[in-house]
Amino acid sequence: MSNTHSDCLSFDSLSSGTRADCPFCAGNELLTPPDIMRMPAASAQPWRARIIPNRFPIVEPRSPTQQTAELPPSIATPATRPAHGVHDVVIESPNHDHTILAITPSAWRDVWELCRQRIALLSEREDLLWATVFKNSGVHAGASLEHLHSQLIALDFIPPLLAAELEALAGTGNPFANVLTVARMTDTVVAEAGDLVAIVPPATRQPFEIWILPCHPEAYFHATSAAHIEALASLTQRVVAKLQRLVPGADYNWWLHQAPFAKRTGSPEAARLSKWHWHLEILPRLASFAGFELATGCHVTTLFPQESARRLREA
Ligand SMILES: [Zn+2]
Ligand SMILES: [Zn+2]
Repeated sequence: MSNTHSDCLSFDSLSSGTRADCPFCAGNELLTPPDIMRMPAASAQPWRARIIPNRFPIVEPRSPTQQTAELPPSIATPATRPAHGVHDVVIESPNHDHTILAITPSAWRDVWELCRQRIALLSEREDLLWATVFKNSGVHAGASLEHLHSQLIALDFIPPLLAAELEALAGTGNPFANVLTVARMTDTVVAEAGDLVAIVPPATRQPFEIWILPCHPEAYFHATSAAHIEALASLTQRVVAKLQRLVPGADYNWWLHQAPFAKRTGSPEAARLSKWHWHLEILPRLASFAGFELATGCHVTTLFPQESARRLREA
Protein backbone atom coordinates (compact mmCIF):
# COMPACT_ATOMS: atom_id res chain seq x y z
CA MET A 1 0.00 0.00 0.00
CA SER A 2 1.40 3.38 -0.94
CA ASN A 3 2.17 6.09 1.59
CA THR A 4 0.19 8.49 -0.57
CA HIS A 5 -2.96 7.07 0.88
CA SER A 6 -1.97 6.95 4.52
CA ASP A 7 -3.75 10.24 5.32
CA CYS A 8 -7.03 9.21 3.85
CA LEU A 9 -6.80 5.85 5.60
CA SER A 10 -6.25 7.43 8.98
CA PHE A 11 -9.57 9.23 8.63
CA ASP A 12 -11.52 6.14 7.67
CA SER A 13 -14.10 5.21 10.20
CA LEU A 14 -13.94 1.49 10.79
CA SER A 15 -17.67 1.07 10.66
CA SER A 16 -19.16 -2.37 10.35
CA GLY A 17 -18.42 -3.86 6.94
CA THR A 18 -15.37 -1.68 6.20
CA ARG A 19 -11.68 -2.56 6.44
CA ALA A 20 -9.14 0.25 6.33
CA ASP A 21 -6.72 -1.79 4.25
CA CYS A 22 -9.17 -3.24 1.73
CA PRO A 23 -9.13 -1.39 -1.61
CA PHE A 24 -12.62 -2.62 -2.49
CA CYS A 25 -14.39 -1.26 0.62
CA ALA A 26 -16.55 1.86 0.48
CA GLY A 27 -14.47 4.84 1.58
CA ASN A 28 -11.24 3.40 0.11
CA GLU A 29 -11.92 4.35 -3.52
CA LEU A 30 -8.64 6.28 -3.68
CA LEU A 31 -6.80 2.97 -3.33
CA THR A 32 -8.06 1.85 -6.75
CA PRO A 33 -8.11 3.35 -10.23
CA PRO A 34 -11.27 5.43 -10.96
CA ASP A 35 -14.53 3.69 -11.87
CA ILE A 36 -15.19 2.66 -15.44
CA MET A 37 -18.87 2.16 -14.58
CA ARG A 38 -20.89 2.07 -11.38
CA MET A 39 -24.35 1.29 -10.12
CA PRO A 40 -26.25 3.51 -9.65
CA ALA A 41 -24.68 5.60 -12.40
CA ALA A 42 -25.30 8.91 -10.61
CA SER A 43 -22.18 9.75 -8.61
CA ALA A 44 -24.20 11.72 -6.05
CA GLN A 45 -25.54 8.44 -4.69
CA PRO A 46 -23.44 5.85 -2.85
CA TRP A 47 -22.34 3.04 -5.17
CA ARG A 48 -23.69 -0.48 -4.79
CA ALA A 49 -21.37 -2.06 -7.39
CA ARG A 50 -18.58 -0.70 -9.54
CA ILE A 51 -16.19 -1.79 -12.25
CA ILE A 52 -12.55 -0.67 -12.19
CA PRO A 53 -9.47 -1.54 -14.28
CA ASN A 54 -7.51 -4.45 -12.81
CA ARG A 55 -4.23 -3.13 -11.38
CA PHE A 56 -2.50 -6.37 -12.36
CA PRO A 57 -4.03 -7.18 -15.77
CA ILE A 58 -3.34 -10.54 -17.39
CA VAL A 59 -4.05 -8.98 -20.79
CA GLU A 60 -2.97 -5.59 -22.01
CA PRO A 61 -4.37 -3.12 -24.51
CA ARG A 62 -2.81 -3.06 -27.95
CA SER A 63 -0.70 0.05 -28.35
CA PRO A 64 -0.02 1.32 -31.89
CA THR A 65 3.44 2.48 -30.79
CA GLN A 66 4.32 -0.56 -28.70
CA GLN A 67 7.02 -2.87 -30.06
CA THR A 68 5.83 -6.37 -29.29
CA ALA A 69 7.89 -9.49 -29.76
CA GLU A 70 5.21 -11.27 -31.76
CA LEU A 71 6.12 -14.58 -33.34
CA PRO A 72 5.87 -15.01 -37.11
CA PRO A 73 2.25 -15.67 -38.17
CA SER A 74 3.22 -19.17 -39.34
CA ILE A 75 3.86 -20.35 -35.78
CA ALA A 76 1.90 -17.80 -33.73
CA THR A 77 -1.17 -19.21 -31.97
CA PRO A 78 -3.26 -17.72 -29.17
CA ALA A 79 -0.99 -19.62 -26.77
CA THR A 80 2.25 -18.18 -28.11
CA ARG A 81 1.48 -14.58 -28.84
CA PRO A 82 1.01 -11.65 -26.42
CA ALA A 83 -2.49 -11.54 -24.96
CA HIS A 84 -4.31 -8.34 -25.76
CA GLY A 85 -7.60 -7.21 -24.34
CA VAL A 86 -9.24 -5.63 -21.32
CA HIS A 87 -9.13 -6.85 -17.72
CA ASP A 88 -11.56 -5.30 -15.21
CA VAL A 89 -12.57 -6.02 -11.63
CA VAL A 90 -16.24 -6.02 -10.68
CA ILE A 91 -16.62 -4.95 -7.04
CA GLU A 92 -19.95 -6.48 -6.14
CA SER A 93 -20.67 -4.75 -2.85
CA PRO A 94 -19.34 -1.76 -0.88
CA ASN A 95 -19.51 -3.90 2.27
CA HIS A 96 -16.51 -6.07 3.16
CA ASP A 97 -18.59 -8.64 4.99
CA HIS A 98 -21.13 -9.23 2.24
CA THR A 99 -21.44 -12.60 0.60
CA ILE A 100 -23.60 -13.45 -2.39
CA LEU A 101 -26.19 -14.71 0.05
CA ALA A 102 -26.08 -11.57 2.24
CA ILE A 103 -26.50 -9.07 -0.59
CA THR A 104 -30.09 -7.99 -1.32
CA PRO A 105 -31.69 -9.47 -4.46
CA SER A 106 -32.02 -6.02 -6.06
CA ALA A 107 -28.36 -5.17 -5.41
CA TRP A 108 -27.31 -8.55 -6.79
CA ARG A 109 -29.43 -7.96 -9.90
CA ASP A 110 -27.63 -4.61 -10.29
CA VAL A 111 -24.28 -6.43 -10.35
CA TRP A 112 -25.36 -8.57 -13.30
CA GLU A 113 -26.86 -5.58 -15.08
CA LEU A 114 -23.59 -3.67 -14.62
CA CYS A 115 -21.65 -6.59 -16.15
CA ARG A 116 -24.13 -6.73 -19.04
CA GLN A 117 -23.66 -3.03 -19.74
CA ARG A 118 -19.86 -3.27 -19.60
CA ILE A 119 -19.71 -6.24 -21.99
CA ALA A 120 -22.16 -4.46 -24.33
CA LEU A 121 -19.79 -1.50 -24.40
CA LEU A 122 -16.76 -3.72 -25.08
CA SER A 123 -18.64 -5.57 -27.85
CA GLU A 124 -18.65 -2.36 -29.87
CA ARG A 125 -14.84 -2.17 -29.95
CA GLU A 126 -13.28 -3.23 -33.22
CA ASP A 127 -10.25 -4.85 -31.57
CA LEU A 128 -12.13 -7.26 -29.29
CA LEU A 129 -13.67 -10.61 -30.28
CA TRP A 130 -15.07 -12.07 -27.09
CA ALA A 131 -15.66 -11.28 -23.40
CA THR A 132 -16.50 -13.08 -20.20
CA VAL A 133 -17.15 -12.41 -16.54
CA PHE A 134 -15.90 -14.98 -14.07
CA LYS A 135 -15.71 -15.54 -10.33
CA ASN A 136 -13.08 -17.23 -8.18
CA SER A 137 -14.75 -17.86 -4.83
CA GLY A 138 -12.42 -19.17 -2.13
CA VAL A 139 -8.75 -20.06 -2.08
CA HIS A 140 -9.23 -23.41 -3.84
CA ALA A 141 -10.82 -21.49 -6.71
CA GLY A 142 -7.97 -18.99 -7.02
CA ALA A 143 -9.34 -16.06 -5.01
CA SER A 144 -6.69 -13.71 -3.61
CA LEU A 145 -8.92 -11.03 -2.05
CA GLU A 146 -11.82 -11.85 0.24
CA HIS A 147 -14.00 -8.81 -0.61
CA LEU A 148 -16.87 -9.92 -2.90
CA HIS A 149 -15.79 -9.41 -6.52
CA SER A 150 -15.59 -10.92 -9.99
CA GLN A 151 -13.35 -10.29 -12.96
CA LEU A 152 -14.31 -9.29 -16.48
CA ILE A 153 -12.00 -9.98 -19.40
CA ALA A 154 -12.33 -9.18 -23.09
CA LEU A 155 -9.93 -10.73 -25.64
CA ASP A 156 -8.84 -10.01 -29.18
CA PHE A 157 -9.05 -13.71 -30.01
CA ILE A 158 -11.52 -16.56 -29.55
CA PRO A 159 -10.13 -18.87 -26.84
CA PRO A 160 -9.96 -22.64 -27.50
CA LEU A 161 -12.94 -23.67 -25.33
CA LEU A 162 -15.17 -21.17 -27.12
CA ALA A 163 -13.87 -22.25 -30.50
CA ALA A 164 -14.81 -25.82 -29.57
CA GLU A 165 -18.33 -24.80 -28.53
CA LEU A 166 -18.67 -22.90 -31.79
CA GLU A 167 -17.42 -25.87 -33.77
CA ALA A 168 -19.98 -28.14 -32.10
CA LEU A 169 -22.73 -25.98 -33.64
CA ALA A 170 -21.47 -26.56 -37.19
CA GLY A 171 -23.75 -29.46 -38.06
CA THR A 172 -27.50 -29.72 -38.22
CA GLY A 173 -27.96 -30.54 -34.53
CA ASN A 174 -27.87 -28.20 -31.57
CA PRO A 175 -25.84 -29.41 -28.57
CA PHE A 176 -27.35 -26.71 -26.32
CA ALA A 177 -30.89 -27.86 -27.10
CA ASN A 178 -29.75 -31.46 -26.60
CA VAL A 179 -28.34 -30.67 -23.16
CA LEU A 180 -31.67 -29.14 -22.14
CA THR A 181 -33.63 -32.10 -23.50
CA VAL A 182 -31.36 -34.56 -21.69
CA ALA A 183 -31.74 -32.57 -18.45
CA ARG A 184 -35.55 -32.89 -18.65
CA MET A 185 -35.36 -36.58 -19.58
CA THR A 186 -32.83 -37.52 -16.89
CA ASP A 187 -34.28 -35.41 -14.08
CA THR A 188 -31.22 -33.19 -13.70
CA VAL A 189 -33.05 -29.84 -13.61
CA VAL A 190 -32.22 -28.14 -10.30
CA ALA A 191 -34.24 -24.91 -10.43
CA GLU A 192 -36.03 -22.60 -12.86
CA ALA A 193 -36.71 -18.87 -12.99
CA GLY A 194 -38.68 -17.38 -15.86
CA ASP A 195 -37.09 -18.61 -19.11
CA LEU A 196 -33.84 -19.63 -17.39
CA VAL A 197 -33.03 -23.05 -16.03
CA ALA A 198 -30.30 -24.38 -13.73
CA ILE A 199 -29.25 -27.94 -14.60
CA VAL A 200 -26.57 -30.44 -13.71
CA PRO A 201 -24.82 -31.09 -17.05
CA PRO A 202 -24.62 -34.63 -18.49
CA ALA A 203 -20.87 -35.08 -17.78
CA THR A 204 -19.89 -33.25 -14.62
CA ARG A 205 -16.29 -32.39 -13.76
CA GLN A 206 -17.07 -32.16 -10.04
CA PRO A 207 -20.06 -33.12 -7.87
CA PHE A 208 -22.78 -30.44 -7.92
CA GLU A 209 -21.56 -28.74 -11.12
CA ILE A 210 -24.37 -26.52 -12.42
CA TRP A 211 -25.04 -24.69 -15.68
CA ILE A 212 -27.56 -21.85 -15.92
CA LEU A 213 -28.89 -21.01 -19.37
CA PRO A 214 -31.95 -19.68 -21.19
CA CYS A 215 -34.37 -22.34 -22.49
CA HIS A 216 -34.43 -20.64 -25.90
CA PRO A 217 -31.45 -19.70 -28.08
CA GLU A 218 -29.82 -16.38 -27.22
CA ALA A 219 -26.24 -15.78 -28.34
CA TYR A 220 -25.37 -12.75 -26.24
CA PHE A 221 -25.70 -12.20 -22.51
CA HIS A 222 -24.82 -8.57 -23.15
CA ALA A 223 -28.03 -8.16 -25.19
CA THR A 224 -30.33 -10.09 -22.87
CA SER A 225 -33.55 -8.76 -21.33
CA ALA A 226 -34.11 -7.27 -17.89
CA ALA A 227 -36.25 -10.32 -17.11
CA HIS A 228 -33.33 -12.65 -17.86
CA ILE A 229 -30.98 -10.57 -15.70
CA GLU A 230 -33.50 -10.84 -12.86
CA ALA A 231 -33.77 -14.60 -13.36
CA LEU A 232 -29.99 -15.07 -13.49
CA ALA A 233 -29.56 -13.08 -10.27
CA SER A 234 -32.23 -15.18 -8.58
CA LEU A 235 -30.83 -18.51 -9.77
CA THR A 236 -27.23 -17.73 -8.85
CA GLN A 237 -28.27 -16.82 -5.31
CA ARG A 238 -30.46 -19.93 -5.05
CA VAL A 239 -27.88 -22.42 -6.33
CA VAL A 240 -25.05 -20.93 -4.25
CA ALA A 241 -27.32 -21.27 -1.18
CA LYS A 242 -27.98 -24.90 -2.09
CA LEU A 243 -24.28 -25.63 -2.62
CA GLN A 244 -23.41 -24.03 0.72
CA ARG A 245 -26.06 -26.10 2.51
CA LEU A 246 -24.71 -29.30 0.95
CA VAL A 247 -21.02 -28.45 1.39
CA PRO A 248 -20.62 -25.58 3.86
CA GLY A 249 -17.79 -23.27 2.81
CA ALA A 250 -17.43 -24.87 -0.64
CA ASP A 251 -15.16 -22.96 -3.00
CA TYR A 252 -16.25 -22.62 -6.62
CA ASN A 253 -15.59 -20.91 -9.92
CA TRP A 254 -18.13 -19.66 -12.40
CA TRP A 255 -17.75 -18.19 -15.82
CA LEU A 256 -19.96 -16.82 -18.56
CA HIS A 257 -19.80 -18.36 -22.03
CA GLN A 258 -21.46 -16.20 -24.62
CA ALA A 259 -20.87 -16.30 -28.36
CA PRO A 260 -17.94 -14.42 -29.90
CA PHE A 261 -18.91 -10.93 -30.98
CA ALA A 262 -20.55 -10.76 -34.42
CA LYS A 263 -19.32 -7.79 -36.36
CA ARG A 264 -16.80 -8.50 -39.07
CA THR A 265 -15.03 -11.05 -41.22
CA GLY A 266 -14.21 -14.09 -39.16
CA SER A 267 -17.26 -13.71 -36.93
CA PRO A 268 -19.39 -16.80 -36.42
CA GLU A 269 -21.98 -17.18 -39.14
CA ALA A 270 -25.63 -16.47 -38.38
CA ALA A 271 -26.60 -20.16 -38.48
CA ARG A 272 -24.38 -20.97 -35.50
CA LEU A 273 -25.30 -17.83 -33.59
CA SER A 274 -28.98 -18.65 -33.99
CA LYS A 275 -28.41 -21.89 -32.03
CA TRP A 276 -26.17 -20.53 -29.25
CA HIS A 277 -27.42 -20.28 -25.66
CA TRP A 278 -25.25 -18.07 -23.46
CA HIS A 279 -24.63 -19.90 -20.20
CA LEU A 280 -23.03 -19.64 -16.80
CA GLU A 281 -20.97 -22.69 -15.79
CA ILE A 282 -20.61 -23.09 -12.01
CA LEU A 283 -17.87 -25.51 -10.97
CA PRO A 284 -17.48 -26.39 -7.27
CA ARG A 285 -13.84 -27.04 -6.35
CA LEU A 286 -14.38 -29.97 -4.01
CA ALA A 287 -11.55 -32.20 -5.31
CA SER A 288 -8.25 -31.31 -6.92
CA PHE A 289 -7.65 -31.96 -10.59
CA ALA A 290 -5.04 -34.73 -10.65
CA GLY A 291 -2.80 -36.47 -13.16
CA PHE A 292 -5.52 -38.23 -15.12
CA GLU A 293 -7.57 -35.06 -15.58
CA LEU A 294 -4.51 -33.07 -16.64
CA ALA A 295 -3.26 -35.83 -18.94
CA THR A 296 -6.51 -36.45 -20.75
CA GLY A 297 -8.99 -33.64 -20.27
CA CYS A 298 -11.34 -36.33 -18.95
CA HIS A 299 -12.73 -35.84 -15.45
CA VAL A 300 -13.42 -38.37 -12.74
CA THR A 301 -16.36 -37.46 -10.54
CA THR A 302 -17.68 -39.32 -7.54
CA LEU A 303 -21.37 -38.49 -7.98
CA PHE A 304 -23.71 -39.26 -10.90
CA PRO A 305 -25.41 -36.16 -12.36
CA GLN A 306 -28.86 -37.41 -11.31
CA GLU A 307 -27.69 -37.76 -7.71
CA SER A 308 -26.05 -34.30 -7.75
CA ALA A 309 -29.30 -32.82 -9.08
CA ARG A 310 -31.47 -34.64 -6.56
CA ARG A 311 -29.38 -33.45 -3.62
CA LEU A 312 -29.26 -29.89 -4.98
CA ARG A 313 -33.05 -29.81 -5.48
CA GLU A 314 -33.66 -31.03 -1.96
CA ALA A 315 -31.04 -28.78 -0.30
ZN1 LIG B 1 -13.32 -4.79 1.62
ZN1 LIG C 1 -19.57 -23.31 -22.10
